[in-house]
Order: sequence, then structure tokens, then C-alpha cells
Amino acid sequence: MERKHTISVVIPLFNEEKSLEELYNRLTAVLNKIAVGYELLFVDDGSTDGSLKVLHSLREKDNCVKIISFQRNYGKSAALSEGFNVVNGDVVITIDADLQDNPDEIPELIEVLDQGADLVSGWKVNRKDPITKTLPSKIFNFVTSFVSGIKLHDFNCGLKAYKKEVVKRVVIYGELHRFIPVLAVWEGFRVSEKGVSHSERKFGRSKYGTKRFLNGFFDLMTVMFITRRSTSPLHFFGRFAVFFLAAGGLINFYFLIQWLMGKGLHVRPVMVGGMIMIVIAVQIGFFGLLAELFSSRTEKSFSFREYLIDD
Ligand code: UDP
Ligand code: MG
Repeated sequence: MERKHTISVVIPLFNEEKSLEELYNRLTAVLNKIAVGYELLFVDDGSTDGSLKVLHSLREKDNCVKIISFQRNYGKSAALSEGFNVVNGDVVITIDADLQDNPDEIPELIEVLDQGADLVSGWKVNRKDPITKTLPSKIFNFVTSFVSGIKLHDFNCGLKAYKKEVVKRVVIYGELHRFIPVLAVWEGFRVSEKGVSHSERKFGRSKYGTKRFLNGFFDLMTVMFITRRSTSPLHFFGRFAVFFLAAGGLINFYFLIQWLMGKGLHVRPVMVGGMIMIVIAVQIGFFGLLAELFSSRTEKSFSFREYLIDD
């Protein structure tokens, strides 16, 4: 492969002391073959084992090794986000620290970038994890793909390759790292996927249990809200408000006519329902307005293809 990229590898890790040295060796072997220059940015997410010590010893012998260490465990999204802030390479790779992802796949991912993609997501075709993880993950991927309309098999693969602009642009917090491809598409980037191999975890334990999948679905709502409501919260909430107002209004208009026609009024379930709908409409309407006011005060930013404004 022709050497044409400077490459930054971002490695989020939480208590992975036994894997780090081997990971370092395998990454170094690959990158020495393909990169013009590279950096290995290890982001220690508040490990409580000897991970940081191992990292120090790696940095001592190799100044391509860079270390960011959080005071406490903030989660994988935070680790990636901090890493993305400081990377320099024109290509950015993310890879898990637990040796489940294979560094030898990196050149092929970069090839897909060279063919025009902005983000290439790994797809663990043959995932080596217990069924308690693979099954929920299948459901998660199916639902995310269905709801977002993005045709990927594996949104949450740790191994991904990005053009630098993408990582400088997507904003991830909480556990939104699972939706990076969705957020990238929303920002106008071209996302594709490539099958990669996957290994069983050799050392340490998985940091994510099954409970993450419930959170995953809350996050899906967040992401869909961020990406679907276009620019205006009131446009989003306003629709619901109008719907409830119309439904409630019609119902009570019907009873008004009846009353005008001389039919005595007595409380009926539908009438109560209609009044509740009107109350809900007012609530949602003002909530949307409040969100709109808040949103109008937050800074707007855009992703650009070009910005040619100098003479
Ligand atoms: N990780 C992290 N912070 C956390 C949890 C995990 O940086 O709070 C790292 C972890 O060390 C690994 C990667 O994120 O490098 C993926 O985590 P894990 O292997 O536990 O997830 P799984 O492969 O089981 O889905
Ligand atoms: Mg893992």
C-alpha cells in the first residue's frame, strides 16, 4: 500500500492492562508499513488496574505513544471525544483496547476511505461474544438501521476509520458513541462499512452488560430527535400540539353544537377526553416554545464542504 496518510489511532481503555503491550506491538507493526507518520493516542478512562503504568512504559521507549488519563471513569464516549479533540492525523482510527479488534484490518479500512468514504465502520461479521451480547446487539442494529434509514449491519463496532473532518465534527457524549455513523450521516458525511474479523476477549472482562441495551434505545430516541427535528424544536413539538388541539377542539365543538341545539349537557367520557387533549396541546405547545427559545440562544454551527472567502 502506498504511504500517503498521517494516521492517528485513538484507543479508549478501561482496565485493560494485560492487553496493552500486545496491542501496541501489533498496531506498531501495521502502521510502520502504511503510514507517513502516526500517533497512538491511548485514552485511559479512569482505569484502576495497572493500565496507566503499562502506558508509561510504552511511552518511555516510543514517543508515538501519547496518553490522556481521566481522573475517573467517564465512559467510552467521553474517552473517544477527548481523543478526537486532540488528534492530528488526516486519517483517524478507533480501535478497542481489548484485542477483540484486529489491527491488521486497518489498511483495508483506509482503502475504503481512499475510494471516497468519509467514515468506514467495521462490521463484526462473525462476532465472538456470548449470545447474551450478540442477540441484543442484533436487535439494536436492526432497530437503529430501521429507524435511521442507514443501511449498516454493525453500528457499534469499535474499529472504525475516519477522515479527520468527521471526528472534529461529530459531538458525542453519554453513550452516543454507538450512533457515530448516524450522527456522521446527519452531518452530510459518506458512511460505508467493511467486514472485519473479531476475536474473543483474552484478558479482563467486558465493561458493558445487557443493561446497556435499554440505554441504547433511549439514546436512539435522543439521536433521532437531534437528527430528525431539523432545526426547530417548535416545528417538532408544534405538530403534536396542533394534533391534540384539533382533536380535542373537534370533540368539544361537537358537544357545543349539541348544547346549542338544546340538548342538555352531561359529562361524558369523550368530552373529558377532549378537554384533556386541549390541556395537553397547550402544555406541549409551550414546551416547544420554551425549547425553541433555548435553542435560539445556543450557538449554531455547520459542517462545510468548502469555505473560500479569502481574496
Ligand atoms: N471502555 C472504556 N470506558 C468504559 C468502558 C469501556 O474506555 O467505561 C473501553 C474498553 O476498555 C474497550 C472498549 O471501550 O477498549 C470496548 O469495551 P468492551 O470491550 O468492554 O465492550 P464489548 O466489546 O464487550 O462490547
Ligand atoms: Mg470488547
